[in-house]
Amino acid sequence: MSETATMTSAPEFRAAGTDLSERRRTGVSRGAIVDLALPGDDGIAWSADGAATIGAFATIATVASDRKIGEAYPGLAATAAGLATPQIRHLATIGGNLAQRSRCWYFRNPHIACLKKGGSDCPARSGNHLYGVAFDTGPCVAPHPSSMAVALLAYDATVATDRRKGLSIPELLGDGSDGRADHGLQPGEAIRSIAMPAPLAGERARYKRAISRSYAEWPLVEVCARAVIADGAFSFVRIAAGGVAPRPLRLIATETALAGRPPTEATIANAAKLAADGATPLPMTSYKLELLNGLVRDLLTQIAA
Ligand SMILES: Cc1cc2nc3c(=O)[nH]c(=O)nc-3n(C[C@H](O)[C@H](O)[C@H](O)COP(=O)(O)OP(=O)(O)OC[C@H]3O[C@@H](n4cnc5c(N)ncnc54)[C@H](O)[C@@H]3O)c2cc1C
Repeated sequence: MSETATMTSAPEFRAAGTDLSERRRTGVSRGAIVDLALPGDDGIAWSADGAATIGAFATIATVASDRKIGEAYPGLAATAAGLATPQIRHLATIGGNLAQRSRCWYFRNPHIACLKKGGSDCPARSGNHLYGVAFDTGPCVAPHPSSMAVALLAYDATVATDRRKGLSIPELLGDGSDGRADHGLQPGEAIRSIAMPAPLAGERARYKRAISRSYAEWPLVEVCARAVIADGAFSFVRIAAGGVAPRPLRLIATETALAGRPPTEATIANAAKLAADGATPLPMTSYKLELLNGLVRDLLTQIAA
């Protein structure tokens, strides 16, 4: 067994195993496994005000195809429909998606040490980080892998575990300053459900990803955007991006630039440029800022149409 495999004191949960199995095969994950059994946690419940709570065991395919989710939270449904492959979506759970481990090829290589495997530094930083972050806010330069977390951040979702309730996505995943972790779950803590506020009157939402092949790949950059346009101006905007930072990122400068402004081409173009506000790209990741700008502009243009 490799010296650089993940050392875990608590057993690792397995939901559908679409992430975990690969790490078991390579030896990156070792130690005990607990198969999660969350009876009743595979459905979607609706409150009287139209808010949804999704069980952690609901599959990505369920989220993608549920008619009511598609109507109330179209950005979430589109994100689910766009990730991985039909086969993976059919099995993978939304809880497992949020808690999945980094896709960094150094982390996934059982023979290379890295921060997430008890090493002292991030080999991608001085190595090949073509798919790394463009907002370099943590010691590990791998972007967070969860597409669902991006959409759930845009929808102001909260997560309940078997120990805690009401965790925002930043509270669940942390801010990325701990390069060893992909999330802030305690050892043995299980996600039980994800709740979203009821959609706002008249809101529209879209999701788009830039990807190096048409499917079966994590995106280079992905964006989920929601907005309400009332009386000829943006009255509400939420934009979250993935693939660019150690955690899903709210694009606050873009949101602020749109608030109260008419949805014109010029306003949208200017606001989209601000998506790169605060970026600190690595030598190989400047290209992601162009992709981010383009995705934000495209989504806002679609929403405004
Ligand atoms: C080709 C391919 C392309 C992909 N593309 C994307 C993509 O674009 N975007 C994206 O987001 N994902 C992508 N994925 C990853 C896929 O979405 C995840 O593997 C899947 O969502 C994990 O869910 P699971 O139920 O199989 O989790 P598992 O593999 O069972 O578990 C994953 C991790 O989460 C932990 N875990 C699982 N459930 C819980 C819980 N309820 N509480 C606490 N911890 C838990 C486990 O201990 C484990 O560490 C892709 C996968 C493949 C193979």
